[in-house]
Amino acid sequence: MLNIIIFGAPGSGKGTQSLKLIEKYGLKHISTGDLLRSEIKAGTDLGRLAESYMSQGKLVPDDIVIGMIENLIKEHPDATGFIFDGFPRTLAQGKALYEVLEQNGQDLSVVLSLEVEDKELVERLLKRGEISGRSDDNRETIEARLQVYYDQTAPLKDYYQGKRKLEKIKGQGSIEDIFASIERVVDGLIE
Ligand code: ADP
Repeated sequence: MLNIIIFGAPGSGKGTQSLKLIEKYGLKHISTGDLLRSEIKAGTDLGRLAESYMSQGKLVPDDIVIGMIENLIKEHPDATGFIFDGFPRTLAQGKALYEVLEQNGQDLSVVLSLEVEDKELVERLLKRGEISGRSDDNRETIEARLQVYYDQTAPLKDYYQGKRKLEKIKGQGSIEDIFASIERVVDGLIE
């Protein structure tokens, strides 16, 4: 069982590298951002609530995202492993994930932390906004999201460092080179 957290600031390439990880290792992808966006698209109550936070670049409350993750893990007892993308984003979420994995007889394999400079993050997100039209990829919301990342999410790195699970990956360069660094870490876990 491989349970991988792909960690990093908004725009660090978590989604892109997740897709490559799934392709190679056959993991089940859990992206809280994608899950929340599909709730918004479906016009559910949860989607409406989530949108009110996301459009401002704020985090959706912990109990909502934790509940979503718990359900997904329980619904997939046969998964060969999970890749958590965009979750956990707070210390409370990190602790909840630890517990739910344990309750399901699993543990965390590794946290891959994609390290990218701020200047490049902002450039990538602005570009993504032009292409995908994602409503939170505009300059004002991007700045709010980066601030939220440094205040609430980045402290998780110390938490995982303390558990000896953190692996820093240089997140700048070609997609293939970044993935090669990821493969070296993940292959080392399998052998
Ligand atoms: P990015 O990593 O580029 O910011 P995501 O798609 O992962 O994009 O997240 C978009 C937004 O969805 C976040 O800014 C936040 O409002 C909300 N969100 C996603 N995951 C979480 C989470 N684990 N906890 C709280 N809010 C979340």
